[in-house]
Amino acid sequence: MVRVTLVNYTKRPLETITWAALISYWGEWSTESFERISENDVEKHLPRILGYGHESILEHATFTFSIEGCSRVCTHQLVRHRIASYTQQSQRYIVLDEENVEETFVIPESIKKDRELYEKWKKVMAETISLYKESINRGVHQEDARFILPQAVKTKIIVTMNLRELKHFFGLRLCERAQWEIREVAWKMLEEMAKRDDIRPIIKWAKLGPRCIQFGYCPERDLMPPGCLKKTRKKWEQVVGSKS
Ligand SMILES: Cc1cc2nc3c(=O)[nH]c(=O)nc-3n(C[C@H](O)[C@H](O)[C@H](O)COP(=O)(O)OP(=O)(O)OC[C@H]3O[C@@H](n4cnc5c(N)ncnc54)[C@H](O)[C@@H]3O)c2cc1C
Repeated sequence: MVRVTLVNYTKRPLETITWAALISYWGEWSTESFERISENDVEKHLPRILGYGHESILEHATFTFSIEGCSRVCTHQLVRHRIASYTQQSQRYIVLDEENVEETFVIPESIKKDRELYEKWKKVMAETISLYKESINRGVHQEDARFILPQAVKTKIIVTMNLRELKHFFGLRLCERAQWEIREVAWKMLEEMAKRDDIRPIIKWAKLGPRCIQFGYCPERDLMPPGCLKKTRKKWEQVVGSKS
């Protein structure tokens, strides 16, 4: 199962964003005022300013997540989000030496539930690992041996996004239209943020959710199954209201 951890983020994230906004609106705010900005200031000003659509202030808080055990199918989609920084486990330097197919690859539930198909997948995957290892043993560098590995291979990736890009990312990837694995990663990222008292309020104020939450309607409603909007909203409310 994929593991997502919020490893680090801007110190006093909401205060930083609010302070940036206040600097832009009022002359009496200065560099020094950062130290005296209070929770009251945040609550008083931030929801209102975000309501104006002044979203560039969200760029002043960044969040670093570690994502472990997802497939390269998933990370390929993740890295399409360009306003972010990534560091991924290298297949040139790290030799895959796990024999167990389940430990090495992500196998979708749709395959697992068909017993016969699942056994065939595992057989091919085991052969893949074996051929990969044989290639290395015969002197092929892992940068070439890795060409045999399928997209299902598990990986680790570190991602840093600012809050504005996170909003965009969540809009697309928390949605039921997103592919299941990146959707799972996106929900876990949101859950990680929602656990922290110093982050949680911004999730509602900035509407850090799927696009149905952000827009108040579903832009793809013609393509969605009935009940999706209600189900997604309920799930989001549960996550946002939750503590660890
Ligand atoms: C359901 C779904 C299905 C998808 N299917 C496909 C598919 O079939 N094939 C495929 O190739 N991709 C597909 N994608 C990926 C999609 O096209 C985007 O590449 C991905 O979602 C990244 O989003 P983005 O480009 O909006 O934003 P990011 O890269 O996260 O950038 C954020 C925003 O910054 C701005 N921006 C960033 N770079 C530029 C730029 N160079 N010029 C102008 N503005 C910029 C844009 O406003 C952009 O929305 C799919 C995505 C989803 C969610």
